[in-house]
Amino acid sequence: MTACLFDLDGVLTQTARVHNVAWAQTFDAFLLRHAEATGEPFRPFDPGPDYNRYVDGRPRADGVRSFLASRGVVLPEGAPDDPPEAETVNGIGNRKNVVLLERLRTDGVEVYPGSVTYLKAAADAGLRRAVVSASANCRQVVAAAGLEPLLEARVDGLVARERGLRGKPHPDTFLEGARLLGVDPARAVVFEDALAGVAAGRAGGFGYVVGVDRVGQAEELLAHGADVVVTDLAGLIDRETPA
Ligand SMILES: [Mg+2]
Repeated sequence: MTACLFDLDGVLTQTARVHNVAWAQTFDAFLLRHAEATGEPFRPFDPGPDYNRYVDGRPRADGVRSFLASRGVVLPEGAPDDPPEAETVNGIGNRKNVVLLERLRTDGVEVYPGSVTYLKAAADAGLRRAVVSASANCRQVVAAAGLEPLLEARVDGLVARERGLRGKPHPDTFLEGARLLGVDPARAVVFEDALAGVAAGRAGGFGYVVGVDRVGQAEELLAHGADVVVTDLAGLIDRETPA
């Protein structure tokens, strides 16, 4: 293997949790209004299965559409620049982003120390390194986390939209990461904490897929295509090998 393709939220930075909270806040407000309007009982967004199955790792609009479909709700798509008040798939996605940015501003961005250790070890070993994230805020989060010097290429939600790349679980964004680094996908390792993300790694024919388990879903990560599951990237560093 000559290259590493890292997901961001939940793999390098502890922002998966912040995303989860922002989704819950956004969806619960919508579901409450929906329950009042239809007379159906209010069933809140579940930060466990709902987040992991429908939202995590996917482009924002895909997350909104697939979660609402699981509740039998279909909304008009709207446009990517819909205001956050719009009752559309894109409007709800943009509302979630407003909540997310507020939380990132107040709480800041924390890294996983084991992932930073791993990034440095990978750089020292001469492995190529890219970040591949569905997030449209990837550049700012990477900068706030101080990870810019350790990453050579970035494929994020903005790049994906610009270049017409389908989001995870499609492999397009990881393939673009390998292309930017100039490596064959078969020589690249994908690091992912999301079920949709490991599925993308499997679908793209990458050399190896590392599932990063932050929430106790090791078996599902394996079932979706991970070759191995770890809870900390630092555990992958072979300390026996002399530098
Ligand atoms: Mg993730």
